[in-house]
Amino acid sequence: MASPSRAIAFKCSPSLAFSSKTRMDSKPRTLQNPFSSSTSGAAPREARTGDTAEASITLQEWQGWGTTSPVPSLVTKIVQDLKVLEKDIDAQMSFGGSGGKLQGDFKVQEDRKHRKTYKALGDSEQKIQFFSARQIACRLLGSRGYLCQKCWLPLEDCMCSRVVQCPLWPRMRFWLYMHPKDFLRQNNTGKLLWQVFGTEAATLCLFGIAEQEEIMWDAFKLAGKSNVWCLYPNKNAVLTSVQDVFGQESSADLEGPYTQINEDRTLNFILIDGTWNNSVAIFRRLKDQAKLVWGGEDFPCISLATGASAMHKLRPQPSLDRTCTAAAAVGLLSELHVLPEFRSHGFDKQAEVVEDALVVLLEALTNRRLRMGRSISRKVRHTSDFG
Ligand SMILES: [Zn+2]
Repeated sequence: MASPSRAIAFKCSPSLAFSSKTRMDSKPRTLQNPFSSSTSGAAPREARTGDTAEASITLQEWQGWGTTSPVPSLVTKIVQDLKVLEKDIDAQMSFGGSGGKLQGDFKVQEDRKHRKTYKALGDSEQKIQFFSARQIACRLLGSRGYLCQKCWLPLEDCMCSRVVQCPLWPRMRFWLYMHPKDFLRQNNTGKLLWQVFGTEAATLCLFGIAEQEEIMWDAFKLAGKSNVWCLYPNKNAVLTSVQDVFGQESSADLEGPYTQINEDRTLNFILIDGTWNNSVAIFRRLKDQAKLVWGGEDFPCISLATGASAMHKLRPQPSLDRTCTAAAAVGLLSELHVLPEFRSHGFDKQAEVVEDALVVLLEALTNRRLRMGRSISRKVRHTSDFG
């Protein structure tokens, strides 16, 4: 069974420390400085956009990466613009690294062009949306035929056959609120949740992508504020534990609302998926939207008893509050499982399956680094690949 202590032990494993550390070492980037560039060690790849038809992102391709939303219109437009630029300047798009970073002559020209576009945008909301859509467009084009759509690893490292699927308790839903820089990133762990539970139970919502944010907020409005929580260890917020939220109801009434099958009530848990600085921006956006929808300054947050303290020992960084996304889900499921009224929902099994998937991912990442002759120590040189 996956007890909370097992989750801690896992979080402290050296291999995970390597994986998380990689992101934490990344130079903090904020939306104020979204276009900082970096070099990458991987060989450049030509974008597979040979003709007009291939240049567009079809619904099938888009959803293949782990989402159920329509293709974001702004992403479609940016892909078209990139294709037009390719013709205009007669230079082919090429990508390198693991995250669809443009390279070469095309990059120089495109940099100039998108900075100009960005500057000309009227308000910060438009800037956020443009920034996100451009990141995602580049990642989509750069990852075509290179990454497995399901596990986001290079095809030769595909781990899909080793991931065990398992249904999540039907009245629970995870939302992976992900920064665009984490989209299609190999060492992202949020993706494991929909690999295991499916995209309806663990739904991707990319920061700044209007179509996905709308779907997420429609679900929150339907569920009501009392059924939405963010797993975000914000020290400045009033924090409540899993026990605070769900334990009291159980002691008051063991036949309480969570034990009855009530299709109307779904528990929504938001997992913020991004590096530390990006997580702050994502949470701020969540709060701003909540204020518009529900009023009030607060956003209901849950902190894990197993979370911050265990990370403390591991990483004396500002990042210590942030736990790996999949491990946070494991922690939540494990903490729910010890509560009497949740005991029959199989959360121990569900936590274990995610944990196993995390082990598989870490092995795949480690094997890849070894094969490529890269260091697997915590000081990883190519941190910018993961930024
Ligand atoms: Zn795969």
